[in-house]
Amino acid sequence: MLSSAFTWTPLDRVRVLKMDVQDRLTVNRLVRWQRQSVARSIIPGERVSKCYRVRVRELVDVLRSQKFKRAHYGGLYTCGSVWHCPVCASKITERRRIELQQAIDQATKKGLSFFMVTWTLQHTKDDSLKDVRDSLGVALRKLRAGRWYQSFAETWQISGNVTGSEITYGTEHGWHYHKHSIYFTSKTLSVAQLANIQTELSLKYRQILDKMGRYAHPIIGVDVRSGDSGVADYVAKYGQQKDISNWSLAAELTKGSSKVALQEVDHFTPFELLDLYLHQEDDGKLYREYAQTMKGDHQLRWSPGLRDLLGLDPEITDEELATVQDDDAILFAQITIQQWRKIIKQEKRGHVLEAASMGDPDLFQKFLTTIK
Ligand SMILES: [Zn+2]
Repeated sequence: MLSSAFTWTPLDRVRVLKMDVQDRLTVNRLVRWQRQSVARSIIPGERVSKCYRVRVRELVDVLRSQKFKRAHYGGLYTCGSVWHCPVCASKITERRRIELQQAIDQATKKGLSFFMVTWTLQHTKDDSLKDVRDSLGVALRKLRAGRWYQSFAETWQISGNVTGSEITYGTEHGWHYHKHSIYFTSKTLSVAQLANIQTELSLKYRQILDKMGRYAHPIIGVDVRSGDSGVADYVAKYGQQKDISNWSLAAELTKGSSKVALQEVDHFTPFELLDLYLHQEDDGKLYREYAQTMKGDHQLRWSPGLRDLLGLDPEITDEELATVQDDDAILFAQITIQQWRKIIKQEKRGHVLEAASMGDPDLFQKFLTTIK
């Protein structure tokens, strides 16, 4: 349960439906702060619980980007945990998304083509997330390790792949862990050839799973999409959390009758599990299991040599990405320790940034005095 010091009031999300785009973006940002606070109460021992709370200097800086007209904090500890922290994850995945786009653009310039493969396997509510993740991970490693794969890569002139992991939780079938791989190839592939690739990969993948006592559907277990449909869409949406979840909306619309809502929405992203907890629809066990299982995993993995081939800079860690600042940001205000304590206590970290983003120092100072 949330501690009594947890003074956050859940946002009225019905109002969000009537908002314009700018206001919606604002709410999305505030929801990230809210979710981060919820994560903190479920996994208090993890770094996310200190993220953007603990000072690393005497004063907290509020910096403002001239170009984007957005404010952010300086002088605070950041956790850089892409799995645990909704605030850091948003920053990290946005930068990874830009990098994926660069990869696609570079590949196109070099005359490479690409296709996307989605890997799934059958699972039930009895499978732990670790079981599902490990099975899929081992199967894919085996598939890519042997002579079979070498010949596959030669036939289709594969220059490399980048693979990302995604997780949802379904009320009916439990943890749904899947991977998306973008394959780059110097061949221009026809629809028929993509179908052949699907058949070859699916057969091999299912053989490996079979030996492990696992099963994947022959058609949907390995899904292959061409560059223009699958890949572009995946990259455009990469890492974008549905901040305002269907569940939350449905729950509000049915005036807290969330049992009805739960039946209507059967899949949740991990960060939506935090909403469930906040609305007391979940005891936090699922999020905790997810957090423990995914800790330290790569969200995105590039095959050796691919980044070089596409002329991308050497990869930097999630922690480093989370602390990257906009180049043009200037110091807008500084917050004293006393003031910061009040902001933390009242759960106003997001609101303070929204106020600073408006760019009016007097208005900002006035806003600060309202936080007591
Ligand atoms: Zn963080």
